[in-house]
Amino acid sequence: MFLKTFQQHEWTAIRRSIYNKTAADVERALARSHRDLEDFKALISPAAAPYLETMAQISHQLTLKRFGRAIQMYIPLYLSNECQNICTYCGFSYDNKIRRKTLNAGELLREVAAIRDMGYGHVLLVSGEASQTVGTDYFIKALQVVRPHFANISMEVQPLEQADYEQLIQEGLYSVLVYQETYHQEDYKLHHPKGKKSNFNHRLDTPDRLGRAGIHKMGLGVLIGLEDWRTDSFYTALHLQYLERTYWKTKYSISFPRLRPHTGGVTPQAASPDGGQAAVPEGEWTGLNPKVTMTDRELIQLICAYRLLDEEVELSLSTRESPVFRDHAIKLGITSISAGSRTNPGGYVVDPGSLEQFEIHDERSPRAIAEMIKRQGYDPVWKDWDAVLQ
Ligand code: SF4
Repeated sequence: MFLKTFQQHEWTAIRRSIYNKTAADVERALARSHRDLEDFKALISPAAAPYLETMAQISHQLTLKRFGRAIQMYIPLYLSNECQNICTYCGFSYDNKIRRKTLNAGELLREVAAIRDMGYGHVLLVSGEASQTVGTDYFIKALQVVRPHFANISMEVQPLEQADYEQLIQEGLYSVLVYQETYHQEDYKLHHPKGKKSNFNHRLDTPDRLGRAGIHKMGLGVLIGLEDWRTDSFYTALHLQYLERTYWKTKYSISFPRLRPHTGGVTPQAASPDGGQAAVPEGEWTGLNPKVTMTDRELIQLICAYRLLDEEVELSLSTRESPVFRDHAIKLGITSISAGSRTNPGGYVVDPGSLEQFEIHDERSPRAIAEMIKRQGYDPVWKDWDAVLQ
């Protein structure tokens, strides 16, 4: 179980060692052909900022070598906004008085048809956490409705037990995304005060349960803005390496969601000079605003650092990011990108007016994104390439 490894790494000491990295540490990491977690710390540290161009070039080359020019396209399909958890950063939070909606089979089919019409052969099913109405039985029925229409199905729903995952894999589930949100155990409690999600260790062990269930692929990540992103990213990389060693048949992806405005929560922060969001002084943090924010340059640095650490891991970018940023990031290590996303249940045709989980930033259509990818000399792939290669 990862918990044991996690407990051997103390947050403050890790944070200090990242911020103490020097230019010499960064140069040593850049010169190596295989990098370890100490190198990763150097590459995500403030000392690596002047080396961004070199990092980007290496990341570009490594990604070309492993993934060619393929950029996988994906789209979320929100099944439900019912949720029994309170999360301080989410529009679906239990304490947010919104109209709740869960798709029935007929509605799900209409959403499926709309997504198929856009050209997708791969879909990501998303829901809030409401075990009574949107539990394993509901997911099985949803997979039975969706499976005939897609080559490949991913899910981003509440953590489940190993037996539940085994059942869902039988029904055609291919991949699961489960983000820890933050590895800072005390602040995790502040952001998840009520509901099953408040159990930090249960969430932390979810990738182990997925690995034991034999999932084909899983996605990790943290919600950037809750805590120091460098330290949280170190823990993500630690988790990734543990999983790769323990469940070596499974493939892995990493996402980098930055906090976005949503109903009932986060207020947008002032833009920083490079187009990212400015940092909020720690003393002014209210629990609703991002505690820290990450500039666009820092997000590029993180993407490149992951690629320099791990040539195999897929790196994914969502519509949370701006069009300018996403266009720029295509060549720097990203391997999958969402487009045309709606973050509300029924958002494509059934109920476009229902409340979205968060505001998206890149509103362009899937076709427009595919054209942008082609203009950069890359090939948009409309279904998960593992299914294409099988
Ligand atoms: S982040 Fe997930 S668990 Fe938390 S309130 Fe939103 S939908 Fe519910």
